[in-house]
Amino acid sequence: MKESTEDRIERLQAGGVIDMHFDLPMDLYEKRERKDVLATEFLPEFEAGNISVIGAAIYIEDRYLPQKCLRVALDQIARLYAETATSDCFAICKTYREIQVAKETGKIAFLITMEGVEPLGTDLNQLRVFYELGVRSIGLTHARTNAAGHGGVFAASGSAREGLTAFGREVLHECETLGVIVDLAHINPVGFEEILSITTTPPIVSHTNLRGYYDIERNISDEQIKMIGERHGVIGVNSILVSPREEESTLDHYVDHIERIAKLTGIDSVGIGFDFFDFIYRQWPEAKQKELATKFTTPHFIPDLTNHSHNRNLTRRLIERGFGDVDIEKILRGNWLRIFKEVL
Ligand SMILES: [Zn+2]
Repeated sequence: MKESTEDRIERLQAGGVIDMHFDLPMDLYEKRERKDVLATEFLPEFEAGNISVIGAAIYIEDRYLPQKCLRVALDQIARLYAETATSDCFAICKTYREIQVAKETGKIAFLITMEGVEPLGTDLNQLRVFYELGVRSIGLTHARTNAAGHGGVFAASGSAREGLTAFGREVLHECETLGVIVDLAHINPVGFEEILSITTTPPIVSHTNLRGYYDIERNISDEQIKMIGERHGVIGVNSILVSPREEESTLDHYVDHIERIAKLTGIDSVGIGFDFFDFIYRQWPEAKQKELATKFTTPHFIPDLTNHSHNRNLTRRLIERGFGDVDIEKILRGNWLRIFKEVL
């Protein structure tokens, strides 16, 4: 009997789905007075979407810089550990083996990542501390300039012409020595090339969209995609910057981003970095939403791809667009697992 589409989705997702960028620690920190946030607000969607690994990103908002930066970063990690301990559904993982064990025992794995090295200050010793706490992927910058380098702006040009600082290069060297994945999301174009020229491990871009569809420096160009492909890296496709136009911010256009990367470098370079942000955005007062629009851009959320339970819509659309099982499984988890196996 022919397998139904729903059964096929079920089978393809059963092995797990990996999202390499989620602002979870930041939200847990903001809700630090509450209990069981993870189990009540996130677990149902993770389970409905067959999530197996989440890249849980430490990110420090401007308002905490510079004095409270380190403390907030540590508190974000503390909340993740405390919330993880309240349920046997989760595990914070530091190695590929631990990720495998989490899957075998039916747990959702968190891989702690850092988006912008502001918490390190200019002290490489702090990197060692965060490594011991479980940080296993680091992107040097968010959109701003820090001690390591410069972020790409939310415009077609205008970011710093300089690349990394000496500290930025030291951080990368230490990441490679310790076994921390180097993430190129957000870095400015000069810094992007410099990172590739001085590292040897497979690079990732945890969450990004394509300049070919949304031409801002925060996204990546076809040239940059090819550079990642040549180094056997993986690019996680972001769900909130697929188009500058709201009406083009659709699931189909999300799949266009996937298709374009696959055409440029092959399917082995495509992963998921949803960057689901709708749930945080909705919690913000209007003034803060406006501030985001002024500072960066107005995010256009894809209506049927705004949280982890919506994974199934993506898998269904990949099937409808003619992707085969092997390729879909690489996108959903296989390519990220290869990176974890090689680096962690
Ligand atoms: Zn980001």
